[in-house]
Amino acid sequence: MKHYDLIVVGGGLSGVAAAVSAARRGLKVLIADKAGWLGGAMSNCLIYPFMPYHMKDKDGNSVDLSTGFFKELTTRAAKDLPPNTKPHYFDSEYFKFMLDDVVCEAGVEVLFHVTLFRVETEGREIKKLLFAAKSGVLEYSADFYIDATGDGDLFYFAGCDFQLGRDADNLCQPMTTCFRIANVDRAKFEEELPTMQALYKQFRKEGKIINERENILVFRHGMPDGVLHFNTTRVIKHNPTDPEDVSRAEVLARKQVKEMVEFLKTNLESCKNATLIACAADIGVRESRKLRGVHILNQEELIACTKFEDSIALGNYDIDIHNPAGADTSHYYFGPGEYYTIPYRSLLPKEYDNLLVAGRCISATHEAQASVRIMPICCCMGEAAGTAAAIIKETGTTAHSVNVSLIQDVLRKNGASID
Ligand SMILES: Cc1cc2nc3c(=O)[nH]c(=O)nc-3n(C[C@H](O)[C@H](O)[C@H](O)COP(=O)(O)OP(=O)(O)OC[C@H]3O[C@@H](n4cnc5c(N)ncnc54)[C@H](O)[C@@H]3O)c2cc1C
Repeated sequence: MKHYDLIVVGGGLSGVAAAVSAARRGLKVLIADKAGWLGGAMSNCLIYPFMPYHMKDKDGNSVDLSTGFFKELTTRAAKDLPPNTKPHYFDSEYFKFMLDDVVCEAGVEVLFHVTLFRVETEGREIKKLLFAAKSGVLEYSADFYIDATGDGDLFYFAGCDFQLGRDADNLCQPMTTCFRIANVDRAKFEEELPTMQALYKQFRKEGKIINERENILVFRHGMPDGVLHFNTTRVIKHNPTDPEDVSRAEVLARKQVKEMVEFLKTNLESCKNATLIACAADIGVRESRKLRGVHILNQEELIACTKFEDSIALGNYDIDIHNPAGADTSHYYFGPGEYYTIPYRSLLPKEYDNLLVAGRCISATHEAQASVRIMPICCCMGEAAGTAAAIIKETGTTAHSVNVSLIQDVLRKNGASID
């Protein structure tokens, strides 16, 4: 059985950030993913763009809250984009190639097409991971582990305490299959936008549209000429961690994609020649299992802009809750100069000394997760988890006994914003 200093399960932005940050401090790292590429939701689910990660300071200047490794990625990716393109737009295909290069340059070993399905533990230690693969069962062990699976598969198989969806009824935010169309007359589309929204609402009222979403969510900026990106399908009341439910959700979401494309082609002059050019490989999961760790980050702490002593990342994305039970989306927007911090303890499971969690499955309530779940913040949490794994090794401590200020010092030195 191969042994590593660190195994990161999940190759989304949180997993990549964790793996690279640890490897750059000399750890022998394996990153494993069930997909055949890195990027996680960005690659598997066609998620685009980066949601806002800036705030205005008191002089009206824009200040980035997600920096460090995330900034390194956006800076490197920007060179492939047309001049004047904002860093929160990216070329999804180029990003995949770039992430391959970034992990290889850091010396991280990559293992694709393996699905974690069992975790062996002893007392407060994770001992080894078992993956299902084409060749059968593969076993790997490490001194330290990071769960960056989005769904918390690692901590779930290890038996950690967790919360599925919201407290009252376990319903999760809706799932969405993103898609893109090409051959759109963009200038005309801008003119037709208000008509499109009004018509969609009317069709929904008349029962001609099955999509649960209240309006059409479309992204135009940063897309190639004539291309539109839609994040507008909505599947509610399905459990993202139950394969039978997810299978039904995939089929239903694709029906909604077809319905939307037909609606656009039939009713908008700008889209009459449009073609569907991409439909995400996997349905996008906004929320599923969330760790119940040492600290459960909550909405009140976000709204109060709490500055935790053990802060490892910042955020001010709105508390953006797509209704888990039907139409409508609720928002709480942070004001100018307002931002919150995320504590190290929200990455820390109660049960184990050699496990940290990063990304959208950290220890947070349904409401708090609705803000911290965006890709820039997930990436920063991953950087913190990977850095922590390295410091824990260097100091011979555990995830619980490590001096968090040492992790913070390294994060600051590497350009991460945590204060
Ligand atoms: C529809 C939708 C729209 C969104 N819109 C935006 C947006 O516009 N901007 C934004 O910034 N954020 C957006 N988000 C949020 C954001 O995309 C995710 O929350 C974020 O990407 C999560 O990152 P992560 O690294 O935690 O997990 P992921 O990116 O999901 O990565 C997890 C990885 O783990 C792998 N994995 C999972 N289980 C296993 C297993 N058992 N074995 C092996 N590998 C496994 C998966 O294949 C995946 O690659 C959106 C999310 C959704 C669903």
